[in-house]
Parts: sequence; C-alpha cells; structure tokens
Amino acid sequence: MQKRPQKPGFTEITADAAITVSDHGDRAKCLQRLIALGLPVPRTIALSCAAVRAIAAGHLPDTAALLSRFGPAPLVSVRPSSENAAWGGPGSLLNIGMNAARHAELAERHGEAAANALYLRFVQAYSAHVDRLDPDMFDIVQGCEGSASALRDALRAYEAEMEVPFPQEPADQLAQVLRSMARAWEGTSARLLRQARGAPAEAGLGLVVQQMALGIGRGESGAGVIQFVDPQTGAPQVTGRYLGQSQGRDAVVTDAPGALYLTRDPRGPSLEERCPDVFARLVDYGGRCRARLREEMQIEFTLEDGALHVLDAVRIARSARADVRIAVALAQDGVIDRGEALIRMNPRALSDLLHHQIDPSSERDTIARGIAASPGAARGRIVFSSSAAQASASRGEPCILVRRETTPEDIRGMHAASGVLTERGGMTSHAAVIGRGLGLPCIVGATGLRIDAHARQITAPKGRVLREGDEITLDGTHGEVLSGAVGLLEPALDDSFRTLMTWADAARDIGVRANADTPADATIARQFDAEGIGLCRTEHMFFEDDRLTVMREMIFADTVEDRRAALDRLLPMQRADFTHLFEIMQGLPVCIRLFDPPLHEFLPHGREGLRNLADALDKPLSEVTRRAEALSEFNPMLGMRGVRLGITMPEIYEMQARAIFEATLDASRNGEPVVPEIMIPLVSAKREVELVKARIDAVAASVRIERGCAFDYRLGVMVETPRAALRAGEIAQHTDFLSFGTNDLTQMTYGLSRDDAGRFMNTYVQQGVYPEDPFQTLDLDGVGELLGIGVQRGRAARPQLVLSVCGEHGGNPESIAYCRLNGLDYVSCSPFRVPVARLAAAQHALQDPRPAPTDGPAQA
Ligand code: PEP
Ligand code: MG
Repeated sequence: MQKRPQKPGFTEITADAAITVSDHGDRAKCLQRLIALGLPVPRTIALSCAAVRAIAAGHLPDTAALLSRFGPAPLVSVRPSSENAAWGGPGSLLNIGMNAARHAELAERHGEAAANALYLRFVQAYSAHVDRLDPDMFDIVQGCEGSASALRDALRAYEAEMEVPFPQEPADQLAQVLRSMARAWEGTSARLLRQARGAPAEAGLGLVVQQMALGIGRGESGAGVIQFVDPQTGAPQVTGRYLGQSQGRDAVVTDAPGALYLTRDPRGPSLEERCPDVFARLVDYGGRCRARLREEMQIEFTLEDGALHVLDAVRIARSARADVRIAVALAQDGVIDRGEALIRMNPRALSDLLHHQIDPSSERDTIARGIAASPGAARGRIVFSSSAAQASASRGEPCILVRRETTPEDIRGMHAASGVLTERGGMTSHAAVIGRGLGLPCIVGATGLRIDAHARQITAPKGRVLREGDEITLDGTHGEVLSGAVGLLEPALDDSFRTLMTWADAARDIGVRANADTPADATIARQFDAEGIGLCRTEHMFFEDDRLTVMREMIFADTVEDRRAALDRLLPMQRADFTHLFEIMQGLPVCIRLFDPPLHEFLPHGREGLRNLADALDKPLSEVTRRAEALSEFNPMLGMRGVRLGITMPEIYEMQARAIFEATLDASRNGEPVVPEIMIPLVSAKREVELVKARIDAVAASVRIERGCAFDYRLGVMVETPRAALRAGEIAQHTDFLSFGTNDLTQMTYGLSRDDAGRFMNTYVQQGVYPEDPFQTLDLDGVGELLGIGVQRGRAARPQLVLSVCGEHGGNPESIAYCRLNGLDYVSCSPFRVPVARLAAAQHALQDPRPAPTDGPAQA
C-alpha cells in the first residue's frame, strides 16, 4: 500500500518545548527565550523548516487544527524564522482570520473604525503577498483607513480582479499564507539573495504563527519598538517610537505623524509620560534580555487596551562602532567573557572605525563600481594629475586623484589627495598598496569608466560625463564612486576600541607588525600598536622632489665613480630617514628592505618630462631618450630589479647599508641599542644572498671602525619567487629571517601580473576559476603550499629562523589563520590594517588554541 504523506506538524512554543534554531529558525528560538524570561509573548506556534519545505511541495498542515489552538475565532500573524535573521525572508503577514463575521464582532467590541482598519489592512496585505496583486490597485486616501467606504471599495476591487469574493474561511486564508511564504523562500531570486548574504544553498525557513495583539481598538492601543542603546554609537540610550492605533512596525517604518518618543524628549510627547508603568516594564524587559540573551535587543511590543504584549525581539542592527562598544560593555558587565567579545567582532568591520564612512542616511547616486582597494570614504573635486592634486591641497581644497593607473611618480599626488580612483589595477597594484598604506580610500579597476586625462573628463556608464573640478565621493569600503559630496561619518577610535584591542593582544599568539615606509606611516603604526615595522620599502623615500633629481643623476651616471658621487648625496637623506624611523619606533624592530623596483620607474614619462630631465642633467635630449629607452624592459617585474640590481650595481645597496648602520648608531645614542633588520628583495638563488651579505658585512665593518662603536644587525631574505620558497633551506643558511612577500609570490606562482589582474579578476571569480582574488586572500592550495614548503625547509636548516609574511595577505583575516597554522612568527601589513590583523589573530587563537611554545615567546 502506498504511504500517504503526513501532514506537516507544528509545535506550540513554550519554555520547555523542543525548539531549536536549526529546526525552527532564529525567531522561534528567540521567542522561546523571551517566554522563558517571563515576557508576555502572545501564544505562538512554530512550523519547522521541514514542515515549511513540505508546504512548499504542496503538503499543507491541518490549518483548522492549528487555528483551534488559539481559541475561538482568533486573529493571527505569520512571520518568517530563518536560521539567521540576516538571511532575510518573506515579509510578515498580520490579521489572518479577518472576515465579515469577525469584522462585525470587532466593530461591536472596538468600534466600527477599528474593525474597518483591521479588515482593510488584511485585504491589502493578503492581496499583495498571497495573490500577488498590485498594491496600487487599492487607492486609499491616507487617513481614511477606518472608513466603511474604503473597506467596501477594497473588497470590491479584490473581487473585480480575482473574480471571486475575498476568502472568508480563516483556515483557508492561513493555508494560502503559509503556502505563499514557503514558495517565496524557494524562489530563485530569494535564494540568490540569501546566498549573497552568506546563507548555505540548502538553508531552510521556519515560520511562526502568533496570536494577534491588535494595537487598534479601545483603550490605550498601539504598537512600537524600543531599544536600549544608540545603534550608531552603542551608548546606553533608550530610543524607539510608539504609535497609537497601529500595528507591527508602523511607528518606525512610516515615520508616522503622532508617533511618540519612548523616553522623555524635549521634541515631543513620550510613552514614558503617557504610560509610565508600561515604559518601566519595557525597560525591565530590556535588562532581562541583555542579561540572559547576552545581547542588546530591540523589542517589538503592542498595547491592546492598555495590556502590554511583546511580539518579538531582535538583535539591534548597529554600526561597527556600536558593535564594539556593546560587546566591550557586555564583557565589562560580566554578561559575556572577553574572549566572546572578541569572537563576536567582524575584523573587517573594524576597519570602518579607522576611516571616514559614508553616512548611511545620505542619498547615494552611484556612478561606477570598481575594486574596493582601500577602505573608507573620501570626497573632493576631481583632478587628473599629481601636480593638480598638490595644487588643490595647497589651496586647502580636498580632491580625488583620478588616473588610469598610478605609478611611483604619483606618490606625492596621492599624499595630497583625499582619495584615489583608477581605471585599471587590482588589489596589489600600485594605487591599492599605497592607498592602504596611507589609509587613503581607494578604488581601482573601475573598468566601466573611461578616463581621458587630456580632455580632463571621465565618461561613466550610461554616458555620464564628469569633468575636472566636479565633486565626487569614493566609498572605498564598497568600491563605489558616487556623484557629488555625500555626507560622511567621522572615524571612531574610542575607549571601547582601545580596550578591545588590548584584549586581542592578550589573546593572540602571532605577532603583528606594520608595513611603513615613511615617518608618517611609522607614527600611525605606533598609534595602532604595531609591534614593529615588518617592511619598509625604501624606494618610496626617493620620490621626494629633492631626491628624485639626484636619483636620476645616479641612474644616468656614466661611471661607477659618478654613480657613487650621486649616491653620496643621497646617503645623508637616507640616514636621516632611517634615524627618524628608529626614533619613532623606540626600540621596536624595524625591517628595512633594500632597493627593489626597476630603475625606469624613476624616469619621467613623455617627451616633456624627458626634456626637463635633459635640462636638469645638462645632457642632450637624444642621449637622455636613448638611455631611458635602454632601461625599458619587456617584463619589468621579471627583469632587472630587486637583488639583481643590487648585484649589478652594488653601490646602491652599499649606500643603503651604510645609511642604515650610521642611523643605527645615531639613534642608539640616547636609548637602547637599535638592531636593524635588513632584507634583500626578489631573491631566487643562494649565491645572490652570499654576494650581498659579503658586501653588507664589509660596510658594517667599515662603519664600526670609522665610528669606533659596535652594533649588531640581522640579515634576511624576502621570499617572493617560487624558487626562493623551494630553496629556502640553503638560502636560510645565510640569514636570520625569511619574510614571504606574498604579493610577488602570488604574481609569480600564477604568472599573473598584479597590475593587470583587475581586468579579468571579476570574471574569473564570478565564473569560479578562482574562489577569490588571490592577491587579497592567500591561495592556500598553490601559493600556500609554496609558503609551507619554504617554512618547513627554512626551519629545518635553521631552527631559530624568524618567519613572517609581509605581502598584503598579512592583513587578511583568513590568510592570517594560515600563517599562524604554519608557525609563522608574525604578519606585517599596512598600518591601517594592523587592528584588523590583531583582532583576527586573537580570534584564531581563541577558536583554535595551540600549545604554548616551549622555547619562549615568538619574536615579533
Ligand atoms: C611582496 O611582493 O609581497 C612585497 C611585500 O613587496 P612589494 O609589494 O613591494 O613588491
Ligand atoms: Mg615584492
């Protein structure tokens, strides 16, 4: 005999009913907790996710039996209850059970107007949600909801459209509501939307059916919401609204005239004054929720003829800043422990606190989208060149530097600008790396824009044209270019943030340093409590005006002597830079990378620039042009750069080593001796290290003799080529540390230019070729394996080797987990990502504790 499908079951929510988040959803579980806390929740019945799945497949529950659990002729509401409220779901539906008979009864009890309004609301909601009719077909004049004619017209309109009278049987109404909600959840667009919000593909929906508390009728009736902290700041403060003769979220959603404040307020009357007892009970409920649900909750309540009902409570939607303050306050009050406060935070959201953000209440007119390369918001007038950015800054006018892509020459323009927008590039292109380093909001790879720097205009999608001087706003957190000057929120580094960071430091077991190239970067790194500098890219120091010319002279020198002469002029400048850095870092480790980029990056572009250079060097233009051409390479990132330059032109590294050692002695004079760390870039062979090491040792010996002072230094290698990772064992024999430059390592492992990846990265990620942009999140399978090999071979050869990551991945929470698991001693990232890294590292340590090392703490 064929088995007949069972009708889906339902469970009344009581304090001890078998309700779980996974079976019945978050709302059902929360309502159970409210009931257990003794809050006056109207009778509620939960339908499990399995039951709702069965409903979607056409197996409806016995709705008459379900309704009978609410007593005779009830009115009920149905609300969605997914496992995670953030996944969304169909809208709630109220007043189910309204029909002509119920209308007559309510008119008797609460008056004609209340009955009309309730019935009319139900007809409208049912038509829109269940029968999918256009809500505009009910042309009801505002304020006339209680009139008999409005109700009559609505019922007629329904009948005309559906060709049947409005359904009168409550059990049928409920069945149709349940079916429509179950099907809405299964729809393709709803599925895609929730998956985009992080829901698994098979996420289920529970439903709760709740006895209505009417909110419309005789006596003090109405509905409202109350919350006990400010959702923007997290400061304790009662906020919310209450509206008489209303239901659900009318008081907040419609910004209705006549809505009351909750607590006494100079702007108008409040519930506290009108119903002090109700207000006091709500405050008490808020306290109970906080203590027992261990969260700041927003309570949705209804008054029916003076009686208070709590319909629902949800975690207060809040800004990142409020999130920190709430978690810290809960931990300080002993409601949760510090570890939980740390775990609750989203490390990425933390970076919202460090930068300006777009005010969520501002209008957004999005012109174009790109890669969100550096977070925060900035507004200003469009400029197309670095010199225009500097001119703008000198006039005190904020500007946004717009370029097809930036080059090292733009560094001064970037310093002057409030934000940077480029048409090309990816997460580790020049603009992105520098933007993050400076804490400058930056969008790269905005491929929908056509930037014409000559015509000084941008053509955006849909043909919109923006010209130099027009105001725009960058939302670097979300990668959106907005028209005009949009309202911004200030950064918020308050006491709660600092407290949370102290707790993170106590919990984490991997060091966090900052990538800092200039004294300004180093100062920010210290403000964010970085444990040192993990990467100082020295080439950035040569782009200052006075140095660039000397640098170019050095590049164009005909003989070693001429080159040395130019380098001798750079030496005092470098020495001053390093002394300053050491002083700012006050004894914390400073890791300085020797010169890395190809020399042509220091040459001007275009004929005009070359002519100026010829003037400055007093050489014929033809010679300058010829020499510039000779320096150009087919694949500059794979050519004469890094250690290759250091070996072919050893004078450069010798000058830098001397500057570092002299600065070491200068900075050691007043305090603890400085022990600099010197790092060789782009190594791929052991012999490269041997050659450079011999020269640096010789410089150290000379400086010791000249100054008559001793000092130590540590030598390390950047592992940026696959070969360096594979040969880490022999390379480590000559070094104290290895630092994985995962930007270049990713570029070289994939054979993928980090400056051009933006052109197709979106397509690649969308089509699942790469799960994520490997320049943002470490590719564990490929680059990660190389890193693991490098760590293991390096440590096997030299157990005391200090290991770190200094590519952009050092600030990426998922990549930090991998670094930690591979036993790296520290990560190093842009100063503004240091707090994110500290928190992420703490979370990993709390969630996956590892045995304490036996030979002392890791060296950061
Ligand atoms: C790297 O390659 O990961 C790195 C840190 O160096 P850069 O970004 O300067 O090439
Ligand atoms: Mg590199």
